[in-house]
Amino acid sequence: MKVLISEIPVEGLDFDIKETIKSDDLSLPVRGQLKILKMGAEIIVRGKLMADIDLQCSRCVKDFRSEVSVPVNVVYHPVEEFRGEEKHALRVEELDMGFYSGEILDMFDLIKEQIMLNFPMKPLCNELCKGICLKCGADLNAGDCGCNAINRDSRFMELKKLIKE
Ligand SMILES: [Zn+2]
Ligand SMILES: [Zn+2]
Repeated sequence: MKVLISEIPVEGLDFDIKETIKSDDLSLPVRGQLKILKMGAEIIVRGKLMADIDLQCSRCVKDFRSEVSVPVNVVYHPVEEFRGEEKHALRVEELDMGFYSGEILDMFDLIKEQIMLNFPMKPLCNELCKGICLKCGADLNAGDCGCNAINRDSRFMELKKLIKE
């Protein structure tokens, strides 16, 4: 999905995104909308990308599918500009910044980069996931396995013993 920069009209270009990102062990359908605008030598890409990602919960190791939504707001500068003074660097600090060279902007690279940057590092099947018991391996979301209760009791017994002594 390549965009010829000289052919971006004043009002910009709208894209419906339906791409499949592929890397070593991943094949991920991505959808969304992107708008490409040209402001002088800068190319601005705005919009939203969505992907259903198969993840494994970092607490209970359950497999689950999560919809990841990525807001896109990137400014591309011509790479030649980078050689000069960095007059643009501060003005766009609230935006992601990229560089392009030549006449073509590859949207596929952008989509892949944006999704990868927002890939959850510590996914949770649920914000309140209780995880698994470190002693017996039971899924604590399914109910208390009792290990912690035993723990509490034994501590309580020891306390009682101390008091008696
Ligand atoms: Zn979980
Ligand atoms: Zn347990």
